[in-house]
Amino acid sequence: MPQMRVAVAGAGIAGLAFAAALRRTGIDCHVYEQADELMEVGAGVQVAPNATRLLHRLGLRDRLRTVAVAPQAIEMRRWDDGTLLQRTPLGSVCGRRFGAPYYVVHRADLHSSLLSLVPPDRVHLGARLTAVTQTADEAYLHLSNGTTVAADLVVGADGIHSVAREQIVADRPRFSGQSIYRGLVPAERVPFLLTEPRVQLWFGPDQHCVCYPVSAGRQVSFGATVPATDWRQESWSGRGDVTQLAAAYAGWHPDVTRLIAAADRVGRWALHDRDSIDRLSAGRVTLIGDAAHPMLPFQAQGANQAVEDAVVLAVCLAGVEPAGLGAALRRYERIRLPRTTRIQRQSRANAEMFHLADGADQRRRDVAAQSSSGLDRHEWLFGYDAEKATTTSGSA
Ligand SMILES: Cc1cc2nc3c(=O)[nH]c(=O)nc-3n(C[C@H](O)[C@H](O)[C@H](O)COP(=O)(O)OP(=O)(O)OC[C@H]3O[C@@H](n4cnc5c(N)ncnc54)[C@H](O)[C@@H]3O)c2cc1C
Repeated sequence: MPQMRVAVAGAGIAGLAFAAALRRTGIDCHVYEQADELMEVGAGVQVAPNATRLLHRLGLRDRLRTVAVAPQAIEMRRWDDGTLLQRTPLGSVCGRRFGAPYYVVHRADLHSSLLSLVPPDRVHLGARLTAVTQTADEAYLHLSNGTTVAADLVVGADGIHSVAREQIVADRPRFSGQSIYRGLVPAERVPFLLTEPRVQLWFGPDQHCVCYPVSAGRQVSFGATVPATDWRQESWSGRGDVTQLAAAYAGWHPDVTRLIAAADRVGRWALHDRDSIDRLSAGRVTLIGDAAHPMLPFQAQGANQAVEDAVVLAVCLAGVEPAGLGAALRRYERIRLPRTTRIQRQSRANAEMFHLADGADQRRRDVAAQSSSGLDRHEWLFGYDAEKATTTSGSA
Protein backbone atom coordinates (compact mmCIF):
# COMPACT_ATOMS: atom_id res chain seq x y z
CA MET A 1 0.00 0.00 0.00
CA PRO A 2 1.44 3.46 -0.84
CA GLN A 3 2.48 5.28 2.34
CA MET A 4 0.64 8.54 2.92
CA ARG A 5 2.92 11.62 3.14
CA VAL A 6 1.75 13.91 5.92
CA ALA A 7 3.16 17.40 6.62
CA VAL A 8 2.16 19.29 9.77
CA ALA A 9 2.52 23.07 10.24
CA GLY A 10 3.21 23.99 13.88
CA ALA A 11 4.88 22.10 16.73
CA GLY A 12 2.59 23.27 19.53
CA ILE A 13 0.46 20.97 21.61
CA ALA A 14 -1.79 20.09 18.65
CA GLY A 15 1.01 19.43 16.14
CA LEU A 16 3.11 17.33 18.50
CA ALA A 17 0.14 15.38 19.87
CA PHE A 18 -0.88 14.60 16.29
CA ALA A 19 2.63 13.53 15.27
CA ALA A 20 2.76 11.25 18.33
CA ALA A 21 -0.69 9.79 17.67
CA LEU A 22 0.03 9.25 13.98
CA ARG A 23 3.20 7.31 14.78
CA ARG A 24 1.05 4.75 16.59
CA THR A 25 -0.75 4.06 13.29
CA GLY A 26 2.53 3.48 11.44
CA ILE A 27 2.16 6.61 9.27
CA ASP A 28 5.21 8.86 9.16
CA CYS A 29 4.93 12.64 9.25
CA HIS A 30 7.12 15.72 9.36
CA VAL A 31 6.37 18.78 11.50
CA TYR A 32 7.42 22.30 10.38
CA GLU A 33 7.70 24.89 13.15
CA GLN A 34 8.38 28.61 12.75
CA ALA A 35 10.40 28.97 15.97
CA ASP A 36 14.18 28.46 15.79
CA GLU A 37 14.13 26.81 19.17
CA LEU A 38 11.37 24.82 20.85
CA MET A 39 10.86 26.63 24.09
CA GLU A 40 7.28 26.72 25.38
CA VAL A 41 6.78 29.73 27.58
CA GLY A 42 3.61 30.83 29.30
CA ALA A 43 2.40 29.46 32.56
CA GLY A 44 0.09 26.63 33.54
CA VAL A 45 -2.50 24.62 31.68
CA GLN A 46 -5.36 22.55 33.06
CA VAL A 47 -5.63 19.12 31.50
CA ALA A 48 -8.94 17.38 32.13
CA PRO A 49 -9.66 13.62 32.00
CA ASN A 50 -10.95 13.91 28.41
CA ALA A 51 -7.34 14.67 27.39
CA THR A 52 -5.34 12.89 30.11
CA ARG A 53 -6.83 9.52 29.12
CA LEU A 54 -5.54 10.12 25.59
CA LEU A 55 -2.14 11.34 26.80
CA HIS A 56 -1.84 8.20 28.93
CA ARG A 57 -2.49 6.04 25.86
CA LEU A 58 0.17 7.98 23.95
CA GLY A 59 2.61 6.81 26.62
CA LEU A 60 2.79 9.80 28.97
CA ARG A 61 1.22 8.30 32.12
CA ASP A 62 4.44 8.11 34.16
CA ARG A 63 5.89 11.34 32.88
CA LEU A 64 2.75 13.36 33.66
CA ARG A 65 2.51 11.85 37.12
CA THR A 66 6.00 13.21 37.81
CA VAL A 67 5.65 16.75 36.48
CA ALA A 68 1.95 17.55 36.95
CA VAL A 69 -0.17 18.14 40.03
CA ALA A 70 -3.53 16.43 40.58
CA PRO A 71 -5.72 19.05 42.28
CA GLN A 72 -8.23 17.87 44.87
CA ALA A 73 -10.95 20.30 43.75
CA ILE A 74 -11.94 23.33 41.70
CA GLU A 75 -13.21 26.09 43.98
CA MET A 76 -15.08 29.15 42.78
CA ARG A 77 -15.21 32.09 45.16
CA ARG A 78 -16.57 35.59 45.42
CA TRP A 79 -14.09 38.33 44.58
CA ASP A 80 -14.24 40.41 47.78
CA ASP A 81 -14.94 38.22 50.81
CA GLY A 82 -13.90 34.88 49.26
CA THR A 83 -17.29 33.23 49.92
CA LEU A 84 -17.19 29.72 48.45
CA LEU A 85 -19.68 29.56 45.57
CA GLN A 86 -18.90 26.08 44.32
CA ARG A 87 -16.51 23.23 45.06
CA THR A 88 -16.15 20.56 42.39
CA PRO A 89 -14.32 17.52 43.77
CA LEU A 90 -11.46 16.20 41.64
CA GLY A 91 -8.61 14.02 42.98
CA SER A 92 -9.52 10.37 43.44
CA VAL A 93 -13.26 11.09 42.97
CA CYS A 94 -12.56 12.34 39.47
CA GLY A 95 -10.10 9.52 38.76
CA ARG A 96 -12.65 6.85 39.79
CA ARG A 97 -15.49 8.40 37.85
CA PHE A 98 -13.68 9.15 34.60
CA GLY A 99 -10.88 6.61 34.71
CA ALA A 100 -8.26 9.35 34.27
CA PRO A 101 -6.95 12.20 36.41
CA TYR A 102 -7.44 15.95 36.21
CA TYR A 103 -4.02 17.58 36.06
CA VAL A 104 -2.55 21.06 36.25
CA VAL A 105 0.80 21.30 34.54
CA HIS A 106 3.34 23.84 33.34
CA ARG A 107 2.93 24.31 29.58
CA ALA A 108 6.63 23.63 29.07
CA ASP A 109 6.31 20.27 30.84
CA LEU A 110 3.33 19.22 28.71
CA HIS A 111 5.05 20.40 25.55
CA SER A 112 8.36 18.65 26.28
CA SER A 113 6.47 15.47 27.22
CA LEU A 114 4.78 15.45 23.81
CA LEU A 115 8.04 16.31 22.08
CA SER A 116 9.67 13.27 23.66
CA LEU A 117 7.26 11.08 21.64
CA VAL A 118 8.36 12.44 18.26
CA PRO A 119 11.74 11.56 16.67
CA PRO A 120 13.90 14.71 16.55
CA ASP A 121 14.54 14.35 12.82
CA ARG A 122 10.79 14.68 12.19
CA VAL A 123 10.58 18.18 13.70
CA HIS A 124 11.99 20.97 11.49
CA LEU A 125 12.66 24.29 13.22
CA GLY A 126 12.99 27.75 11.66
CA ALA A 127 10.43 26.63 9.08
CA ARG A 128 7.64 29.21 8.98
CA LEU A 129 4.70 28.41 6.77
CA THR A 130 4.00 31.34 4.45
CA ALA A 131 1.38 29.74 2.19
CA VAL A 132 -0.37 26.49 1.37
CA THR A 133 -1.32 25.52 -2.17
CA GLN A 134 -2.76 22.33 -3.59
CA THR A 135 -3.65 20.48 -6.74
CA ALA A 136 -5.89 17.44 -7.09
CA ASP A 137 -2.86 15.17 -6.45
CA GLU A 138 -0.74 16.98 -3.87
CA ALA A 139 -0.66 19.78 -1.30
CA TYR A 140 2.36 22.04 -0.72
CA LEU A 141 3.76 23.85 2.30
CA HIS A 142 5.67 26.95 1.21
CA LEU A 143 8.19 27.78 3.92
CA SER A 144 10.01 30.99 4.80
CA ASN A 145 13.37 29.25 4.31
CA GLY A 146 12.56 29.03 0.63
CA THR A 147 11.70 25.35 0.49
CA THR A 148 8.45 23.80 -0.63
CA VAL A 149 7.29 20.54 0.89
CA ALA A 150 4.92 18.29 -1.10
CA ALA A 151 2.55 15.99 0.78
CA ASP A 152 -0.62 13.98 0.36
CA LEU A 153 -2.05 15.76 3.39
CA VAL A 154 -1.24 19.09 5.07
CA VAL A 155 -2.36 19.43 8.68
CA GLY A 156 -2.59 23.02 9.92
CA ALA A 157 -1.64 23.04 13.60
CA ASP A 158 -0.35 26.59 13.38
CA GLY A 159 -2.49 28.19 16.06
CA ILE A 160 -5.00 31.02 16.10
CA HIS A 161 -3.26 32.95 13.29
CA SER A 162 -3.15 29.87 11.12
CA VAL A 163 -1.93 30.30 7.55
CA ALA A 164 -3.34 26.86 6.65
CA ARG A 165 -6.81 28.03 7.73
CA GLU A 166 -6.88 30.41 4.74
CA GLN A 167 -7.47 27.30 2.60
CA ILE A 168 -10.73 26.67 4.45
CA VAL A 169 -12.20 30.05 5.34
CA ALA A 170 -11.50 33.79 5.02
CA ASP A 171 -11.98 35.02 8.58
CA ARG A 172 -10.00 36.81 11.26
CA PRO A 173 -9.47 36.46 15.03
CA ARG A 174 -12.02 38.34 17.14
CA PHE A 175 -10.77 40.42 20.08
CA SER A 176 -12.74 39.60 23.22
CA GLY A 177 -12.21 42.92 24.96
CA GLN A 178 -10.29 41.07 27.68
CA SER A 179 -6.62 40.66 28.38
CA ILE A 180 -5.05 38.24 30.80
CA TYR A 181 -2.00 38.68 32.99
CA ARG A 182 -0.18 35.42 33.66
CA GLY A 183 2.53 34.64 36.12
CA LEU A 184 4.37 31.99 38.12
CA VAL A 185 5.16 32.40 41.79
CA PRO A 186 7.44 30.14 43.87
CA ALA A 187 5.24 28.00 46.12
CA GLU A 188 7.00 29.04 49.33
CA ARG A 189 5.83 32.64 48.82
CA VAL A 190 2.14 31.70 48.84
CA PRO A 191 1.67 28.86 51.36
CA PHE A 192 -1.85 30.12 52.15
CA LEU A 193 -2.91 28.96 48.65
CA LEU A 194 -1.46 25.50 49.08
CA THR A 195 -3.20 24.05 52.12
CA GLU A 196 -4.39 21.47 49.57
CA PRO A 197 -3.64 21.36 45.82
CA ARG A 198 -6.63 23.15 44.25
CA VAL A 199 -7.70 25.15 41.24
CA GLN A 200 -9.09 28.36 42.73
CA LEU A 201 -11.09 31.01 40.91
CA TRP A 202 -12.38 34.32 42.20
CA PHE A 203 -15.22 35.91 40.18
CA GLY A 204 -15.81 39.66 40.28
CA PRO A 205 -17.24 42.52 38.23
CA ASP A 206 -15.62 42.53 34.76
CA GLN A 207 -12.72 40.26 35.70
CA HIS A 208 -11.63 37.05 37.40
CA CYS A 209 -8.48 35.41 38.74
CA VAL A 210 -7.51 31.74 38.63
CA CYS A 211 -4.55 29.95 40.21
CA TYR A 212 -3.20 26.44 40.78
CA PRO A 213 0.09 24.70 41.57
CA VAL A 214 2.31 23.38 38.75
CA SER A 215 5.83 21.92 38.37
CA ALA A 216 5.15 19.10 40.85
CA GLY A 217 3.98 21.76 43.35
CA ARG A 218 7.08 23.97 43.20
CA GLN A 219 5.30 26.93 41.61
CA VAL A 220 1.83 28.48 41.52
CA SER A 221 0.56 29.54 38.12
CA PHE A 222 -2.03 32.31 37.92
CA GLY A 223 -4.08 34.13 35.33
CA ALA A 224 -5.91 37.36 36.06
CA THR A 225 -8.15 38.94 33.43
CA VAL A 226 -8.60 42.67 33.01
CA PRO A 227 -10.96 44.36 30.55
CA ALA A 228 -8.86 46.06 27.89
CA THR A 229 -9.64 47.90 24.73
CA ASP A 230 -6.13 49.23 24.22
CA TRP A 231 -4.06 46.04 24.60
CA ARG A 232 -3.97 43.86 21.50
CA GLN A 233 -0.63 42.12 21.93
CA GLU A 234 -0.91 38.38 21.70
CA SER A 235 2.27 36.66 22.65
CA TRP A 236 3.27 34.42 25.52
CA SER A 237 6.33 36.62 25.89
CA GLY A 238 4.40 39.97 25.98
CA ARG A 239 5.36 41.72 29.22
CA GLY A 240 2.75 43.11 31.66
CA ASP A 241 3.17 45.53 34.52
CA VAL A 242 2.73 44.01 38.01
CA THR A 243 1.85 47.42 39.49
CA GLN A 244 -0.96 47.92 36.96
CA LEU A 245 -2.23 44.43 37.66
CA ALA A 246 -2.18 45.03 41.42
CA ALA A 247 -4.12 48.28 40.91
CA ALA A 248 -6.75 46.48 38.82
CA TYR A 249 -7.27 43.98 41.67
CA ALA A 250 -7.20 46.48 44.59
CA GLY A 251 -9.95 45.63 47.06
CA TRP A 252 -10.13 41.95 46.05
CA HIS A 253 -9.77 39.14 48.56
CA PRO A 254 -6.36 39.13 50.33
CA ASP A 255 -5.52 35.71 48.83
CA VAL A 256 -5.68 37.36 45.39
CA THR A 257 -3.84 40.57 46.26
CA ARG A 258 -1.10 38.68 48.13
CA LEU A 259 -0.70 36.30 45.19
CA ILE A 260 -0.27 39.20 42.77
CA ALA A 261 2.11 40.97 45.18
CA ALA A 262 4.27 37.81 45.26
CA ALA A 263 4.87 37.90 41.47
CA ASP A 264 8.18 39.32 40.24
CA ARG A 265 6.98 39.58 36.67
CA VAL A 266 3.88 38.90 34.61
CA GLY A 267 3.11 38.29 30.96
CA ARG A 268 0.09 39.94 29.36
CA TRP A 269 -1.93 38.47 26.55
CA ALA A 270 -4.92 39.89 24.63
CA LEU A 271 -7.62 37.25 24.41
CA HIS A 272 -8.96 36.42 20.97
CA ASP A 273 -11.06 33.65 19.50
CA ARG A 274 -12.81 33.05 16.18
CA ASP A 275 -16.36 32.08 15.24
CA SER A 276 -16.88 28.36 14.72
CA ILE A 277 -16.76 27.14 11.15
CA ASP A 278 -18.80 24.40 9.49
CA ARG A 279 -15.91 22.48 7.91
CA LEU A 280 -12.36 21.73 8.93
CA SER A 281 -10.92 20.57 5.63
CA ALA A 282 -10.64 21.61 2.01
CA GLY A 283 -9.15 19.13 -0.44
CA ARG A 284 -5.85 17.93 1.04
CA VAL A 285 -5.68 20.43 3.89
CA THR A 286 -7.20 20.02 7.33
CA LEU A 287 -6.97 21.82 10.67
CA ILE A 288 -6.44 20.83 14.30
CA GLY A 289 -6.20 22.70 17.61
CA ASP A 290 -6.43 26.49 17.72
CA ALA A 291 -6.06 26.66 13.95
CA ALA A 292 -9.41 24.87 13.76
CA HIS A 293 -11.33 26.28 16.73
CA PRO A 294 -9.55 28.96 18.77
CA MET A 295 -11.54 29.53 21.93
CA LEU A 296 -11.39 31.80 24.96
CA PRO A 297 -9.68 30.06 27.88
CA PHE A 298 -12.75 30.34 30.15
CA GLN A 299 -13.40 26.62 30.14
CA ALA A 300 -9.73 25.61 30.10
CA GLN A 301 -10.29 23.30 27.12
CA GLY A 302 -8.30 24.65 24.13
CA ALA A 303 -5.31 22.37 24.64
CA ASN A 304 -7.57 19.50 25.68
CA GLN A 305 -9.49 19.82 22.42
CA ALA A 306 -6.22 19.99 20.49
CA VAL A 307 -5.26 16.60 21.96
CA GLU A 308 -8.70 15.16 21.13
CA ASP A 309 -8.42 16.45 17.52
CA ALA A 310 -4.95 14.96 17.20
CA VAL A 311 -5.99 11.49 18.30
CA VAL A 312 -9.21 11.43 16.28
CA LEU A 313 -7.52 12.62 13.08
CA ALA A 314 -4.78 10.00 13.48
CA VAL A 315 -7.34 7.22 13.97
CA CYS A 316 -9.33 8.41 10.94
CA LEU A 317 -6.17 8.26 8.80
CA ALA A 318 -5.04 4.83 10.00
CA GLY A 319 -4.94 2.33 7.17
CA VAL A 320 -6.19 4.87 4.64
CA GLU A 321 -4.56 5.05 1.22
CA PRO A 322 -4.05 8.49 -0.36
CA ALA A 323 -7.12 7.83 -2.51
CA GLY A 324 -9.29 7.46 0.60
CA LEU A 325 -8.22 10.76 2.10
CA GLY A 326 -11.45 12.68 1.39
CA ALA A 327 -13.60 10.16 3.24
CA ALA A 328 -11.20 10.08 6.18
CA LEU A 329 -11.24 13.87 6.51
CA ARG A 330 -15.03 13.98 6.33
CA ARG A 331 -15.18 11.40 9.10
CA TYR A 332 -12.75 13.46 11.24
CA GLU A 333 -14.84 16.58 10.74
CA ARG A 334 -18.10 14.80 11.49
CA ILE A 335 -16.74 13.54 14.80
CA ARG A 336 -15.05 16.73 15.92
CA LEU A 337 -17.14 19.70 14.79
CA PRO A 338 -20.24 19.32 17.00
CA ARG A 339 -18.11 18.98 20.12
CA THR A 340 -15.60 21.75 19.45
CA THR A 341 -18.36 24.13 18.34
CA ARG A 342 -20.24 23.53 21.58
CA ILE A 343 -17.10 24.14 23.66
CA GLN A 344 -16.14 27.29 21.73
CA ARG A 345 -19.63 28.74 22.36
CA GLN A 346 -19.63 27.73 26.01
CA SER A 347 -16.24 29.38 26.51
CA ARG A 348 -17.64 32.67 25.19
CA ALA A 349 -20.72 32.36 27.40
CA ASN A 350 -18.50 31.80 30.44
CA ALA A 351 -16.78 35.14 29.79
CA GLU A 352 -20.07 36.84 30.60
CA MET A 353 -21.01 34.56 33.45
CA PHE A 354 -17.63 34.88 35.22
CA HIS A 355 -17.63 38.68 35.08
CA LEU A 356 -21.12 39.69 36.24
CA ALA A 357 -21.36 42.91 38.23
CA ASP A 358 -22.75 42.48 41.71
CA GLY A 359 -26.54 42.49 41.45
CA ALA A 360 -29.51 40.27 40.64
CA ASP A 361 -27.83 38.27 37.82
CA GLN A 362 -24.76 37.64 39.97
CA ARG A 363 -26.94 36.44 42.88
CA ARG A 364 -28.81 34.07 40.55
CA ARG A 365 -25.47 32.76 39.24
CA ASP A 366 -24.18 32.20 42.76
CA VAL A 367 -27.31 30.35 43.90
CA ALA A 368 -27.14 28.12 40.80
CA ALA A 369 -23.43 27.46 41.41
CA GLN A 370 -23.96 26.56 45.05
CA SER A 371 -26.66 24.05 44.16
CA SER A 372 -24.64 22.19 41.48
CA SER A 373 -21.30 21.22 42.91
CA GLY A 374 -20.84 17.64 41.70
CA LEU A 375 -19.10 16.18 38.68
CA ASP A 376 -22.40 15.33 36.95
CA ARG A 377 -22.46 18.50 34.89
CA HIS A 378 -18.96 17.72 33.60
CA GLU A 379 -19.86 14.23 32.40
CA TRP A 380 -20.26 15.31 28.74
CA LEU A 381 -16.92 17.10 28.82
CA PHE A 382 -14.62 15.00 31.04
CA GLY A 383 -16.31 11.64 30.42
CA TYR A 384 -15.90 11.85 26.63
CA ASP A 385 -13.49 9.37 25.08
CA ALA A 386 -12.49 10.85 21.72
CA GLU A 387 -10.88 7.61 20.56
CA LYS A 388 -14.05 5.64 21.30
CA ALA A 389 -16.05 8.24 19.38
CA THR A 390 -14.20 7.09 16.26
CA THR A 391 -15.58 3.58 16.65
CA THR A 392 -19.17 4.76 17.02
CA SER A 393 -18.94 6.97 13.92
CA GLY A 394 -18.35 4.85 10.83
CA SER A 395 -16.54 5.90 7.70
CA ALA A 396 -18.19 8.30 5.27
C1 LIG B 1 -4.35 32.57 28.95
C2 LIG B 1 -4.64 31.22 28.39
C3 LIG B 1 -4.89 30.14 29.25
C4 LIG B 1 -5.17 28.89 28.74
N1 LIG B 1 -5.43 27.85 29.61
C5 LIG B 1 -5.77 26.65 29.10
C6 LIG B 1 -6.05 25.55 29.96
O1 LIG B 1 -5.96 25.66 31.19
N2 LIG B 1 -6.40 24.35 29.40
C7 LIG B 1 -6.49 24.20 28.05
O2 LIG B 1 -6.82 23.10 27.60
N3 LIG B 1 -6.21 25.21 27.21
C8 LIG B 1 -5.87 26.43 27.70
N4 LIG B 1 -5.58 27.45 26.85
C9 LIG B 1 -5.66 27.23 25.40
C10 LIG B 1 -4.41 26.56 24.88
O3 LIG B 1 -3.26 27.27 25.27
C11 LIG B 1 -4.47 26.47 23.37
O4 LIG B 1 -5.72 25.99 22.97
C12 LIG B 1 -3.40 25.53 22.85
O5 LIG B 1 -2.12 26.07 23.13
C13 LIG B 1 -3.57 25.30 21.36
O6 LIG B 1 -2.49 24.53 20.89
P1 LIG B 1 -2.10 24.60 19.35
O7 LIG B 1 -0.96 23.68 19.22
O8 LIG B 1 -3.33 24.39 18.52
O9 LIG B 1 -1.69 26.11 19.10
P2 LIG B 1 -0.44 26.90 19.65
O10 LIG B 1 -0.17 26.57 21.07
O11 LIG B 1 -0.67 28.33 19.29
O12 LIG B 1 0.79 26.33 18.80
C14 LIG B 1 0.93 26.65 17.43
C15 LIG B 1 2.35 26.32 17.01
O13 LIG B 1 2.47 26.62 15.64
C16 LIG B 1 3.58 27.46 15.42
N5 LIG B 1 3.24 28.30 14.28
C17 LIG B 1 2.38 29.34 14.23
N6 LIG B 1 2.34 29.85 13.01
C18 LIG B 1 3.20 29.13 12.26
C19 LIG B 1 3.60 29.18 10.90
N7 LIG B 1 3.11 30.10 10.05
N8 LIG B 1 4.49 28.26 10.45
C20 LIG B 1 5.01 27.31 11.28
N9 LIG B 1 4.68 27.24 12.59
C21 LIG B 1 3.78 28.13 13.06
C22 LIG B 1 3.73 28.24 16.71
O14 LIG B 1 5.05 28.74 16.87
C23 LIG B 1 3.39 27.17 17.73
O15 LIG B 1 4.50 26.37 18.05
C24 LIG B 1 -5.26 28.71 27.34
C25 LIG B 1 -5.00 29.78 26.48
C26 LIG B 1 -4.70 31.02 26.99
C27 LIG B 1 -4.46 32.16 26.04
